[in-house]
Amino acid sequence: MMRKMSSPDNPSQSRPAKDLSPSSERDFFRELGVQTFINAAGTYTLLSASLMLPEVVAAMSYAAKHFVDIDELQTAAGERIAELLGCEAAMVTSGAAAALTVGTAACLTGEDPVRVRQIPDLTGLKGEVIIQRAHRFLYDHAIRNCGVKFNLFKYLRMGFDLVTFSGGKGIRGPQNAGLLLGRKDLIRAARLNSSPNGDAIGRGYKVSKETILGMVVALETYLKRDSEAETKEWERRIQLLANSLADIEALKVEIFTPAIANHVPHLKVTWNLDSLKVSADDIRQQLRAGTVSIEAVPTYSYEAAEDCEEIRFGVWMMQPNEAETVAQRLREVFRQASPISSPAKKDG
Ligand SMILES: *Cc1c(COP(=O)(O)O)cnc(C)c1O
Repeated sequence: MMRKMSSPDNPSQSRPAKDLSPSSERDFFRELGVQTFINAAGTYTLLSASLMLPEVVAAMSYAAKHFVDIDELQTAAGERIAELLGCEAAMVTSGAAAALTVGTAACLTGEDPVRVRQIPDLTGLKGEVIIQRAHRFLYDHAIRNCGVKFNLFKYLRMGFDLVTFSGGKGIRGPQNAGLLLGRKDLIRAARLNSSPNGDAIGRGYKVSKETILGMVVALETYLKRDSEAETKEWERRIQLLANSLADIEALKVEIFTPAIANHVPHLKVTWNLDSLKVSADDIRQQLRAGTVSIEAVPTYSYEAAEDCEEIRFGVWMMQPNEAETVAQRLREVFRQASPISSPAKKDG
């Protein structure tokens, strides 16, 4: 494959790691040989999900300088979060998946310390109760998937006993944070089933003081954001990407919003190998290998139609000016691939 790269307009602005630690002179990821990239995908765990806002980083670095009692902090943070969201009680967990586990455990054990020690051995615990709660959690699972962005309040008002959100996705808290919200007694029980309690099923789901405080500040910041301006900016970016490919005839370019998870505008580019001799994998590799590396939506999250090449992009995790860089680069790789504009069709 031919590889001709041109430098982007503003490479410095596509290095978010620098923005987060302006005082640091070390380029840690470069030292380790770890590639940073423009996230043209979305909040994917494998791609490190989201970038924390400076307010969150500042809170975490503040927390790192002080000793506190973790229980006292968790209680205070929970009260603050509950107040912000208008729910009965809350706790910070080590992610939404951990919240499902300690939330389920809470339903099984209540505040009985003997049961907290006993599970996952369910001997003597009532079967019907377990099934009923598990059923509820199936709903919670689906809700969490689509709820991260717009629906923080709605689900609480629907009357669920417990609701969980990932903290490191759209809310842009620490990646290993999550929220468990709901009934006071169940949150107390969930905390009994979690670190710092040493003899509990959730001891491994440890949440640091930095994460707890970072999550509180992420939530405060999230609730204050100008979501209308944010939505407009996403639409501008997606239009920019779409326009950059508009005159390449072999491509079908569509803007769509997934129904669940990453429920924000995306770009779907499809083509046929008969009209454009390049695979989606090739395009993906070329985007990665450019002067500024660009990551598209991971293939595991969708299925391309048969006999059809497909690549997808999400814009909501892009930093300022990155959409311009991506649009330019997208146009470049697709135009190089076009049989019309590329005379060198021989592979290798
Ligand atoms: C991230 C994510 C989860 C898990 O959340 P964590 O906070 O990473 O545990 C579950 N479902 C979907 C759709 C997600 O995107």
